[in-house]
Amino acid sequence: MFEKLLLDGAQLDFLVEIFARTILMFLLILIVLRLSGRRGVRQLTLFEVAIILGLGSAAGDPMFQEEIPVIYSVVVLFSVIVLYKFITWAASKSDKLTHLLEGKAMIIVEEGMFSIEGNRNADFSQNEFFSELRNQSVEHLGQVRLALLEVDGSMSLLRYEDQEIRYGLPLFPNAYKKVQPEEGSGPFACMFCGNIAQTAKDTQGHCKRCGKEEWTKAINTKYVG
Ligand SMILES: [Zn+2]
Repeated sequence: MFEKLLLDGAQLDFLVEIFARTILMFLLILIVLRLSGRRGVRQLTLFEVAIILGLGSAAGDPMFQEEIPVIYSVVVLFSVIVLYKFITWAASKSDKLTHLLEGKAMIIVEEGMFSIEGNRNADFSQNEFFSELRNQSVEHLGQVRLALLEVDGSMSLLRYEDQEIRYGLPLFPNAYKKVQPEEGSGPFACMFCGNIAQTAKDTQGHCKRCGKEEWTKAINTKYVG
């Protein structure tokens, strides 16, 4: 059964051709990617992911499929690049088209609190932002003046100076724990939006900003870089 899976129908003389086809397609991909003008890949926008998917499939299939002449995929590769160049050019002329293709940068944190505007967005994923902020050594939201989610999925961050740091919602799991405000002393932070309540009395019922009812102890530690 294993032999069937591995060898069934394989023609040995085609194996050498596969080797040659793979080298050829690999060189072609390199040429096409150089022509795209991109400098290498860190983060991709959705539009670029779509382009890469198109390129990948066109480049991979002829490596091992005898009935596909390499010239077909050469045409596909260059068509995709022409399309990429054209759409990139058109997007540079029109902000509307850019937003349509790639979305907009989104404000995540403003003045030490999660932006509620952003939270209403259906694809808001708080966990993701927590980990993204932790990656940038942010211990709590009180250290952050502004955080933007860029269209390529990376996060841009402006910090408060040490003397401006205020109480904020802790982002690391050792401190992000639900507490009962009546049983301790403030300030407290709303676990959903980061709103600060100075005393247990201020937390009564729900958060005045987002309406949620879970609180944790706020912290105001300085940034350690
Ligand atoms: Zn809240």
